[in-house]
Amino acid sequence: MTKLQLSNVSKRFQAVQALKDVSLELDAGQMLAVLGPSGCGKTTLLRSIAGFEFPDAGAISVDGKVFMNRRTWVRPEKRRVGYVPQNGVLFPHLTVAKNIAFGLSRAERKSSRVSDMLALVGMDGLGERMPHELSGGQQQRVALARALAPAPSLVLLDEPFSALDAGLRAALREEVRTTLKAIGATAIMVTHDQEEALSMADRVAVMRHGCCVQVADPVSLYKYPADLGVARFVGEATLLQAPVANGCIDTLFGRLKVASGCPENCRRATIMLRPEQFVVGKPQGQPVSGRVLKTIYHGHDALIYLRADAPLGTEDIRVRVMGAPAFAPGDRVGIAVSGDVMAYPQPSPE
Ligand code: ADP
Ligand code: MG
Repeated sequence: MTKLQLSNVSKRFQAVQALKDVSLELDAGQMLAVLGPSGCGKTTLLRSIAGFEFPDAGAISVDGKVFMNRRTWVRPEKRRVGYVPQNGVLFPHLTVAKNIAFGLSRAERKSSRVSDMLALVGMDGLGERMPHELSGGQQQRVALARALAPAPSLVLLDEPFSALDAGLRAALREEVRTTLKAIGATAIMVTHDQEEALSMADRVAVMRHGCCVQVADPVSLYKYPADLGVARFVGEATLLQAPVANGCIDTLFGRLKVASGCPENCRRATIMLRPEQFVVGKPQGQPVSGRVLKTIYHGHDALIYLRADAPLGTEDIRVRVMGAPAFAPGDRVGIAVSGDVMAYPQPSPE
């Protein structure tokens, strides 16, 4: 069932086109991540849905009810949208319980709603604390509890974890996802962190310069980016130029199959390879040889930067290996490619 529908929503601030013809659909119970670099319009999108921004054009509806279009405007407080703004702060002079109770009716305040919400975010018994007595992660959880308390129809979270350190961020991501799924919430989470988007969301919308350039599930987004910009923004990518014929690409790595992307008449393409598509080993017997430039160790895996001996029509190659890299800068290696590749047509020279 379609929960949220945005059709051609546009918003301009003086010279800046913050949103340009953004169309999106989200099913009930789903979590959408809005991913994009700083300034691409993510916050403006959330504020438009919440009713704090007045789009110049387009339409927004939730559960089939029009929030805004050319003729209709529903005030923010009537939208039943739970909104946690970027750097959303708690009221510093109110206890945790009073923060959570803020948007509730008198009857709701008297019910067990506040304590239910505290339990939901794993903060039983902490209702009488003041915000400054809480850790960053706890404050974030209270902000979430406050947004969820009035049983909103839609939950909007603007970069909810950006102020937290890495360890806490990972733990809280999982908690927030579990909490939202437990109550069947439909949610939109803004982030500029591709890993956060891929790991938390059912669907990811990639934004660039106010446009929504691709909406897809995380696996499809990573495997089949709509264009080279998305390919580079969502994960690591090595790009090389090569001729295309009959759905295949002849490269120094051998003949590679095009997974998607190139039309029949495409003659030349930029192909995109993910770091886990490369296999690195001894130079002997491999199609391409090269030299290790540097290695970056991440604990669970490592990235190896390589420069091929033969010109591949590419930048340096980035390879992911599990665990510690078995190579050091200066080592000579052989490089092979496995799997299909994405190919993006290049304009043919006239
Ligand atoms: P993001 O959240 O992706 O970083 P924003 O939605 O906050 O991006 O901003 C998108 C663009 O619109 C930016 O260029 C920003 O400077 C501009 N912008 C946002 N709000 C306003 C405003 N109230 N007045 C003028 N420009 C704004
Ligand atoms: Mg923002």
